[in-house]
Amino acid sequence: MSRLRLAVIGVGHLGKIHAKLAAGIPEIELVAVVDSRPEAREALAKETGARPVAHVRELIGEIDGAVVVTPTVTHFDVASELMRAGVHVFVEKPITPTVREADELVQLARRRQLVLQVGHVERFNPALVSVQDRLQEPKFIEARRQSGFTFRSTDVGVIMDLMIHDIDVVLSLVKAPLACVDAVGVSVLGDHEDMVSARLHFANGAVANITASRTSYAPARTMQVYTPTRFASIDFASRKATIVEPRLDLLQRDFHLNDLSEATRSHLREQLFSELLVKSEVPAVESNAIEQEQRDFAEAIRTGRQPRVTGVDGRDAVAVAERVLSAVRQHQWDGADSRRVGHLASPMLPLPMVATMDDWATDDTVILRRKAG
Ligand code: NAD
Repeated sequence: MSRLRLAVIGVGHLGKIHAKLAAGIPEIELVAVVDSRPEAREALAKETGARPVAHVRELIGEIDGAVVVTPTVTHFDVASELMRAGVHVFVEKPITPTVREADELVQLARRRQLVLQVGHVERFNPALVSVQDRLQEPKFIEARRQSGFTFRSTDVGVIMDLMIHDIDVVLSLVKAPLACVDAVGVSVLGDHEDMVSARLHFANGAVANITASRTSYAPARTMQVYTPTRFASIDFASRKATIVEPRLDLLQRDFHLNDLSEATRSHLREQLFSELLVKSEVPAVESNAIEQEQRDFAEAIRTGRQPRVTGVDGRDAVAVAERVLSAVRQHQWDGADSRRVGHLASPMLPLPMVATMDDWATDDTVILRRKAG
């Protein structure tokens, strides 16, 4: 079987990683690294043995697939040019900054019968993979993603930059339409929002609280998922997952707290997470999530099956992200007269608040946290 002839387009921070990994996969032949900056493409070409190319149009007819890792605002132009030339496309997240553009890419892929995959890499994170099959019908999800400011991805705000990861994971777990969104956010360093706390209500009653910041001194990528039968805590950064499962009598409501003897209470207090709410670490298979995404892309092209994260998935995540952004813009920080739809109402918060995010929960969120905890 012939190898997949691949190019990586945009070899900045993440593109370099994609190119080096692709060069090491036997089923893939890394034909070219493309970047508008000569120094970026020349240096990586030397390292990987691929051809340095300035523009995708020079490659048409020479590649089967391409990984698009250019800035988000360029995804539509680059991906559509490739697809119009019959090239399968893996495009980094978010698929595009707008649903309108995402819809066009999805239609183009359908018409040309091409694979369109989106780089929502957390779907390949071993911690999520190890527990996702046990998370049927989530009722409540709490996700937190925060990082320092990288000075990259400044073409979009934190919703499209970071929160989109959790939006995609939440949509993959909660299989119901979004009903409504409540969100607050502020910009700290530029024109776009840098911190956002959103609450998503789904038509089946599920609720997801998602917080994202890219101006935090304490990096974190965590998610807690509550289902009717178990609770899971996922740490995307350390790639570890923990499951807590209530004992059968608790699940069946046959456990009566007020009937317990003092001795039983004392025993259960000590053994709460071994006997009553049984806690276990879930072993995750060691794997490189980006390499897994690339293998999935190659396999989807070879077999004609859908990739794990499709263009439609990417489009749906952007649709929810747009609703979060719209809710942020409509929030009134200072009363009705201050509403300025189209701008963040409050451009700046004092830095200590930004850094800790402890004050980030809305009143409703706090109530739910208390209920859940
Ligand atoms: P970056 O700025 O470091 O790199 C972008 C590169 O693209 C630059 O080298 C630039 O010269 C090049 N470029 C720009 N326009 C081009 C064009 N039309 N043709 C060829 N090259 C072009 O950015 P980055 O941090 O690597 O992010 C790139 C994309 O990857 C963004 O969409 C971002 O959201 C995504 N990303 C995803 C993850 C993830 O976890 N999946 C992480 C980081 C970034």
